[in-house]
Amino acid sequence: MALIVQKYGGSSVADAESIKRVAKRIVDTRRAGHDVVVAVSAMGDTTDELLDLAGQVAPIPAPRELDMLLSSGERISMALLAMAIHPMGFEARSFTGSQAGMITDATHGAARIVDVTPVRLREALDEGAIVIVAGFQGFNRDTRDITTLGRGGSDTTAVALAAALEADVCEIYSDVDGVFTADPRVVPRARKLDRISSEEMLELAANGAKVLYIRAVEYARRHGVLIHARSTFSSAEGTWVGTGRHPHHVPEGEHMEEPIVAGVATDLGQAKITVVGVPDVPGKAAEIFKIVAKSGANVDMIVQNVSAAGTARTDISFTLPKTDATTALKALAGEQIEVGFESLVHDDQIGKLSVVGAGMRTHSGVSATLFEALSTTGINIEMISTSEIRISVVLRAADIAEAARVVHTAYGLDGDADATIYAGTGR
Ligand code: ADP
Ligand code: ASP
Ligand code: MG
Repeated sequence: MALIVQKYGGSSVADAESIKRVAKRIVDTRRAGHDVVVAVSAMGDTTDELLDLAGQVAPIPAPRELDMLLSSGERISMALLAMAIHPMGFEARSFTGSQAGMITDATHGAARIVDVTPVRLREALDEGAIVIVAGFQGFNRDTRDITTLGRGGSDTTAVALAAALEADVCEIYSDVDGVFTADPRVVPRARKLDRISSEEMLELAANGAKVLYIRAVEYARRHGVLIHARSTFSSAEGTWVGTGRHPHHVPEGEHMEEPIVAGVATDLGQAKITVVGVPDVPGKAAEIFKIVAKSGANVDMIVQNVSAAGTARTDISFTLPKTDATTALKALAGEQIEVGFESLVHDDQIGKLSVVGAGMRTHSGVSATLFEALSTTGINIEMISTSEIRISVVLRAADIAEAARVVHTAYGLDGDADATIYAGTGR
């Protein structure tokens, strides 16, 4: 008998029928003799709809109230799921994040888990109940307020519960069969991976592959949690995520023999700001990025052009999440005279394409394949950045899908048939 943590995403519990399907899956696991703890997301696109609603009543909703609002989504799905299990003859009990002992720091909208005290969950398990926990939410002891863990945060709830309860596996269920070589909504010929190392999964997640939330992957790596990403709508084996000694993990260092590129990720959530006509003297980049950092923006790529002949001025461009752009622009505009730049340009029609693979460390020519594939398609590259196991390029947003497909083909990643997408809206 094992202890299994299962996480069901929004598309898996989008309506009453889906909730009953999930209930049956949970009951089947219980019937097989396992203890089951479930983390559940809000139904369908509820979180997005609540965010839209908040935006209609206030231009910048108060973070505390936003967390109160958003956490209500998971409260609905957890109770419905428990209710759906009861007629199947099993005891199920739902718990909010704070009841489950999900203790976080006080950062609304992006809270970090600082402690998990699942006392009530253990009691319920000991009494033979199936435990259902609201994903994505926590509680701060100092402010005594409800927090949320950031978009996609139910994955983190599940992994943190798996770590605290020393579960045998953390199964993350969604509307696709696992982790693919690219988002199957963008690249239909994407292939499901049987397993993937932690570091490659982290890079994919950090660069737009939302099938697993980056913080959940990080948490799992730190606490040695075995993640199995799979589909709610099929019993097919999914993708085992992690590096280590477990038979399902990728053994340390093994990727040397594996394909050079594990996958392609796309991200349409970024914007580009160009600071035009910056005096080309030491200290200006420091001034600019101090202002940007103070605004709370998370800068990703940076490019500084050579100064145009004779002007002693240069342009500095950087990318950041679309949601951070307005505050960053405002902060920079407020110090234009002090810094001495000429103007600001905001471009939110960009997209980022990244190629990820641990094999890049030991192979040359990986970037040439990427550039070649884009050039034969006539797609222009605006920015480039690399890490040890990743190459990213910024392109026009409108070019991203086509670019992802040609690059996927160029690295020999295409499967023989189109991937199955079982549900969801991709929102
Ligand atoms: P859930 O609502 O269950 O949390 P998400 O929508 O967050 O599910 O994640 C599943 C979606 O992630 C898929 O429908 C797919 O469109 C997208 N996705 C992006 N990149 C990948 C990838 N590399 N492999 C699989 N799915 C991906
Ligand atoms: N409901 C939250 C969201 O949409 C958390 C999650 O689904 O993981 O981001
Ligand atoms: Mg998700």
